[in-house]
Amino acid sequence: MQIELLAWYDHYGRSLPWRIRPEDKLAGKKVDPYAVWLSEIMLQQTTIAHATPYWEKFIFEFPTVIDLADSNRDKIMAMWSGLGYYARARNLHKCAQLIRDQYGGFFPKHEFELLKLPGIGPYAAAAIAAICFDEPTNIVDSNVERVISRIFKIEDPLPKYRNIYRIKAGVLAPTDRPGDYGQALMDLGSTICTPKAPKCSDCPWLDECAAQTDGSQIQYPKKIKKKKLPIRYGAVFILSNNDSVFLRQRPDSGLLGGMMGFPGTTWSENKSLSIQSAPAAKNWEKCPELVFHTFSHFKLELEVYRAYGKADDNQGIWADLNTIETYALPTVMLKALKISMK
Ligand code: SF4
Repeated sequence: MQIELLAWYDHYGRSLPWRIRPEDKLAGKKVDPYAVWLSEIMLQQTTIAHATPYWEKFIFEFPTVIDLADSNRDKIMAMWSGLGYYARARNLHKCAQLIRDQYGGFFPKHEFELLKLPGIGPYAAAAIAAICFDEPTNIVDSNVERVISRIFKIEDPLPKYRNIYRIKAGVLAPTDRPGDYGQALMDLGSTICTPKAPKCSDCPWLDECAAQTDGSQIQYPKKIKKKKLPIRYGAVFILSNNDSVFLRQRPDSGLLGGMMGFPGTTWSENKSLSIQSAPAAKNWEKCPELVFHTFSHFKLELEVYRAYGKADDNQGIWADLNTIETYALPTVMLKALKISMK
């Protein structure tokens, strides 16, 4: 099976900006572990189409891991704005500094060492070790789980029995070309063995796949039904003055930690609102629209209030609206700003 998959990858695998294709390797091009690491961190919970412009921006601004380590964290947070899961950006900077200070600017080569670094979990460690250093690892992401579930018709549901998928994937993982194999399997999952309409006639594993023999492909992987997300409610207060708006930095711990935001209430399942959280005692005007935003573990409904004038305290900064994209404002805050400007 490995030979068939690698042959398919040689012809049909995707070209991605951080990837060195087999023909480029033959021509002497080398994989850049920094570029691969950056892509793997950005691609967690994010599509390739959404993450690629961010990856390009980071590589342009910080061509090496040392450049990234030497950068100011607020700049990294601002550049990460819109990618979500902001702990990733904080860990990105921490990890770059560790690589600079403890590893002389070079990424460690082994999965077990990579796993010790901030922000690198089992999937990223396996992927970086195999892709960059040809270590035979077992790379399993959600695309791989889907392929494996169909090949073996695994009845045990995800995420509870994730380990079974891992073990089955490990049985197939080769020692020859482990990086290409891992990338091939991920490509197979995202381009051929898709969730709703797998293109089985184009699949190199057609003859090995248990699910396609009885047409049950889309019944796999089996999943435990997700609970409905709870709704939380809150409000933000957008104070403007000339061409600026008042922002505060959120604490490092907690949701959107370290990012900038408008002062606001806590977000709670109780629909109560405290005007005490506003940055100045003003006649706050309630905007007619609400912000709707979905986080991984709850949905948010946010009221937006606006006023004009000075803040009562100096626990924040005035951000120029003409360069607002240079501040680390997460998507939910940008949505609120847009509503306040209508
Ligand atoms: S044959 Fe179809 S269902 Fe089976 S692995 Fe290939 S694409 Fe997926």
